[in-house]
Amino acid sequence: MTVMLRKLAAQESRRMLGDAELGERATLLSEQYLEGRARPAGVRWVTNQNSRWGSCTPAEGSIRLSHRLQGMPDYVVDYVLLHELAHLLVPGHGERFWKLLESYPRTERARGYLEGVAAAERLPRRAGAAEDPAPSV
Ligand SMILES: [Zn+2]
Repeated sequence: MTVMLRKLAAQESRRMLGDAELGERATLLSEQYLEGRARPAGVRWVTNQNSRWGSCTPAEGSIRLSHRLQGMPDYVVDYVLLHELAHLLVPGHGERFWKLLESYPRTERARGYLEGVAAAERLPRRAGAAEDPAPSV
């Protein structure tokens, strides 16, 4: 990473959302794209999740986002959040699942961004890659 990119990343992460704001954002995304059907009980950042961008526990309604998303564009964070919200309604990555994400206009763009990041780090693809066998991103 160049010095300039590092500076940019540092700036972006300074205006990072707190856990409370993340919860509010999840509620808004659910209302806008999922007719308010996904009702997360708790959304928080975690630092112990490096192999996934996000995960959720549908039984508890809890969603966790990797701190590695901090500093990424809003539309990417929103996508991962919406992805996990959709998992509160539909497990796995079947047709019904992707149908839920259809109304979010930047799904493909966000997935491309995350795949690019993963490829750059030479790590396996995550965040809902079609061939990802893990049901929760
Ligand atoms: Zn998923």
